[in-house]
Amino acid sequence: MTDYKNFRVETDERGVRTATLDVPDRPVNVFEDSVLIELNDIVTAARHEASQVKMLVFRSGKQSGFLAGADIHRLQQISNREEAEWILQQGQSLFNNIQQLPFPTLAVVHGACMGGGLEFALACTYRLAVDHPSTKMGLPEVKLGLLPGWGGTQRLPRQVGMAQALSMMLQGSSLSAEKARKSNLVDGLIRSRDADDEINAFINDRLAGRSIHSSKRSWLDWAIDSSSLGRKLAVKQARKQTARQSKHYPALTRILDAVEAGASSKKVSEAGLKAERDGFCDLLFGDVAPHLINLFLLQETAKKASTWTDSAEPHPVQKIAVIGAGTMGAGIAQLAAVRGFSVVLQDVKQEFLDRGMKTIRDLLDKAVKKSAMTQQDADAALSRITTRVGWSDSGDIDCMVEAVVENIDIKKEIFHNADEQLPIHGVLASNTSALPIDKMADATERPEKVAGLHFFNPVHKMPLVEVVRAPHTSDETIATLIGVSKKLGKVPIVVNQSPGFLVNRILFPYLDEAGRLMCEGYSAKEIDREAKAFGMPVGPLELIDVVGIDVARDVSRSLSKLAGQETPAPELLQRLVDNGHLGQKSGKGFYHWKDGKKGDPVELTGFEPTPLDIQIDNWTPEGETFSPIQQRLILVMINEARKCLVENVVSEPWVVDLGMVLGTGFAPFRGGPMACLEKWGTVAVDQRLSYLAGKLGSRFEPCCPKEGTSAAQSVPGPATASHG
Ligand code: NAD
Repeated sequence: MTDYKNFRVETDERGVRTATLDVPDRPVNVFEDSVLIELNDIVTAARHEASQVKMLVFRSGKQSGFLAGADIHRLQQISNREEAEWILQQGQSLFNNIQQLPFPTLAVVHGACMGGGLEFALACTYRLAVDHPSTKMGLPEVKLGLLPGWGGTQRLPRQVGMAQALSMMLQGSSLSAEKARKSNLVDGLIRSRDADDEINAFINDRLAGRSIHSSKRSWLDWAIDSSSLGRKLAVKQARKQTARQSKHYPALTRILDAVEAGASSKKVSEAGLKAERDGFCDLLFGDVAPHLINLFLLQETAKKASTWTDSAEPHPVQKIAVIGAGTMGAGIAQLAAVRGFSVVLQDVKQEFLDRGMKTIRDLLDKAVKKSAMTQQDADAALSRITTRVGWSDSGDIDCMVEAVVENIDIKKEIFHNADEQLPIHGVLASNTSALPIDKMADATERPEKVAGLHFFNPVHKMPLVEVVRAPHTSDETIATLIGVSKKLGKVPIVVNQSPGFLVNRILFPYLDEAGRLMCEGYSAKEIDREAKAFGMPVGPLELIDVVGIDVARDVSRSLSKLAGQETPAPELLQRLVDNGHLGQKSGKGFYHWKDGKKGDPVELTGFEPTPLDIQIDNWTPEGETFSPIQQRLILVMINEARKCLVENVVSEPWVVDLGMVLGTGFAPFRGGPMACLEKWGTVAVDQRLSYLAGKLGSRFEPCCPKEGTSAAQSVPGPATASHG
């Protein structure tokens, strides 16, 4: 047996050598430099001892998974192209060496086998995967604006076929164990990572020369994959399908370039690998990947309680009471139960609880159908939820999350009751969208234990949660809620109490501006198209339809005073509501909706637009061109973001960027509103805002227009995004 820092290597009497990876002091295995070096040593030694080695098996010693890929922090430290090129060369030639060993190799995969981890497994002769929902195999580099740079673009298409490989790499999606087996990404499934009997049976069959039964491919896949022309046609088709997105996400084009460069030959070629290296280096030092990598790392920063509080210890939370079993309450209860909390779901009538429980069961059923969880885990989650009408014994509840209707009097009553019922350590949180938390705290004898915990809809999908600090909220309460958010798998940002908190407050002027544009006679389609051309995932009017026009009207009414200028938008929304246009849920809003899908714009009746007699020029900062509609939608949002910093809603620009990207989908490739401000320059943005204010009114008056101040410099207060 040989011990390395990261690997344990043993050879058995059959000549089967097993290298088990367990990177010390890491919750998951990642490709640190030392892992690459040691793996290279292990492969070289095995090649020299080829007469004694019959098979080389790679396994993980960690419960958490096989190999999660590259160390993203390390990626950010790569300082120049030569260094990037060197790292890529090392990985590519190591994996080529593994592929060319004179004996077979096997990777035994469980949990995360992503990025470099999958590229490594793909270089092996065989792969086995543990048949469990936690097994995930994919090349997600595109999500960081990069491409798989260690042979993934070459080996994945050869292993699973062009259609499957392109879909995985262009979307950054992963396959479950079952799907991996169906796609021939793995050669067999095993029960668990220590099912040595099954692993040994597989190895013995291979050593005995018995063949593997591959899953069948469709004739179309076969036709595409079996000729160079077919493979190139598949790439051409994918180029067409991604043409629009690739303007903002160049990684899509570079992935296709690399696949195409290697498509002529049957085997992995230097031409393909070189295209991979070139693409990776260009992307790493381009405009987009640095933003996406930064946003990824900021999520880690946000999850640390120390980012937001000095040294407060979180109170352990095991049992949560969710008050209100509506859209949000049911979503929060489902997530909490899945993540292992005991949950009490409370409402005012049994029928509301029944409806909430149906929502929860449907969500769990869907997760099981998608193989995201086992039936056993879903049943266990369900068994962790109890329901009740009204208040009863609450002595063992550590945390309340209130999600009842948006009415301050009802919420105050709930906080008063919770204060009487919950044990003294219990934290009381509200999921309100915009109501003042301190008013709820005033209804209790424990204002220091009261805070906001603002989830986004749908709860199981949206990654962000705003932890709202009211004037009396203690650090311990904040630390406790960060801990709860983390356990729920969410990224928390801590914001100080303010109307609309951070995300809705910055989103509001954008949606309001879209309403104003409608009132001036622009079409919904044109407004939404311009927003999407800027990089928003959906246009503002489509978003209002999805949120619900009645909900948007209420938010609009409560936040419109922030604009400091009268707005016709709430009235427009009211008119739509009066006509029964509630958006997606009623089948009609700004658009027609059927089965959750958007159709044509609705012809709005009884609505006379008032065109403005003004001309706004295009704006061209930093080589980009923005139309008048884009300027209005985006700059009003950036201006509000700066106000949030000046008013210390949060105290660092990165919190704004992370919140807006995760909470609203703000064009991630741009890095967020504050990253835009930094790129275009404060002076240029202020000049443009003043120009727009001259044409359209005071809502565009630049916030803090001191010449030459950067976004970061304009932030008052301490360096952390909390206190205040
Ligand atoms: P909803 O109308 O779907 O559900 C509210 C539930 O609260 C209902 O089941 C109702 O019976 C129950 N309820 C009312 N009074 C109660 C009481 N005294 N005790 C117990 N239950 C009571 O509302 P929702 O959309 O889930 O919103 C709930 C909260 O979450 C609101 O504050 C809302 O602003 C906020 N929020 C909503 C969204 C969203 O998109 N829906 C997003 C973020 C935050």
